[in-house]
Amino acid sequence: MTTRPAPKPYILGIHAYVPGKSSGKDGRALTKLSANENPLGSSPMALAALEEVRGEAASYPDPDAKALREAIAQLHGLEPARIVCGTGSDELLNLAAQGFAGAGDEVLFSRHSFAVYDIAARRCGATPVEVDDRDFTADVEAMLGAVTDRTRVVFLANPNNPTGTWISPSQVKRLHAGLPGAVLLVLDEAYGEYIDPALQRVGFELAATHDNVLVTRTFSKIYGLAAERIGWATGAPALIDVLNRIRGPFNVTVSGQKAALAAIGDQDFVTASRVHNAKQRAQFEHAIAALGNHGLSAAPSEANFVLVQFDGDVRAETALNALAEAGYAVRHLPGQGLPNSLRITIGTAEDMAKVTATLQALCGEAS
Ligand SMILES: *Cc1c(COP(=O)(O)O)cnc(C)c1O
Repeated sequence: MTTRPAPKPYILGIHAYVPGKSSGKDGRALTKLSANENPLGSSPMALAALEEVRGEAASYPDPDAKALREAIAQLHGLEPARIVCGTGSDELLNLAAQGFAGAGDEVLFSRHSFAVYDIAARRCGATPVEVDDRDFTADVEAMLGAVTDRTRVVFLANPNNPTGTWISPSQVKRLHAGLPGAVLLVLDEAYGEYIDPALQRVGFELAATHDNVLVTRTFSKIYGLAAERIGWATGAPALIDVLNRIRGPFNVTVSGQKAALAAIGDQDFVTASRVHNAKQRAQFEHAIAALGNHGLSAAPSEANFVLVQFDGDVRAETALNALAEAGYAVRHLPGQGLPNSLRITIGTAEDMAKVTATLQALCGEAS
């Protein structure tokens, strides 16, 4: 007889998500360029809203996040009934897998994509299927080629984390068009607001016109509200209905709902964040390209971070340690098959100048 509760065997197949570090090996606090947080912080309007709800701790939040869903719908030209909010978009990604896949089913995603997809698949007993990418970019034809009659859910992060790469609206449409109608396509647009505004709508258009597309977005990245844990998804009413059945009834806090509502009202902050990011990212990518003769290169990023490859004398681990020495935590992801890369979040202008100078010094190049 066993004397301990036995976990489901597939749960033990999960490697717990490893968050970005905020301290060095010696415990010293580091500036975090390891979690893709907004270096400009949060909108002052969102912070004011958080101040206002201080002390409002005894009452449950609105279980339907009605005001927030209406504001999201208004901003993006969507229907509130086709939106569900979550405890971060992480919750919704997990629910999408749980709602539509189980034992014997396959959940498909690209290699070098978001670590949560593997966890989401395993959590419900489904089989994660990783499809080879190409140049750190999702390979649509390879993904379609990997679909079987067991495939239930396909996850695509666009732009992708941790590579920063992006596939165009026509490729997204191609991926959708090639999938059987019974396969749920989850377009994870956590970094969607960082791309050219003219190209941001393909996910919403697919989700508005097809029964098998769910788009997820978050307030954690460009909106700078990661601490509040607020994400949302849009899709056909039947998809939203499934997520509503299995989500936590009070999954978005009072403060989260108020802060997100206020943040939506400050699109100037969102624009300023996008502009800051684009400028600093371009400068940083340029600086990395100039170190190409030392084996450094960067995947072209559409997100708020850059994946830097170290294929020369300077090793990723050496750079990781030198950056920690300079006061910065960045992301090394050997467990995700990227032992020679560092994912570096775009920080303030000062952060990027220091990070750049550190990498240049490592290569023996004066800044
Ligand atoms: C950060 C991130 C998310 C969202 O995180 P939440 O804070 O849970 O909303 C989702 N997908 C990707 C690819 C991310 O990088």
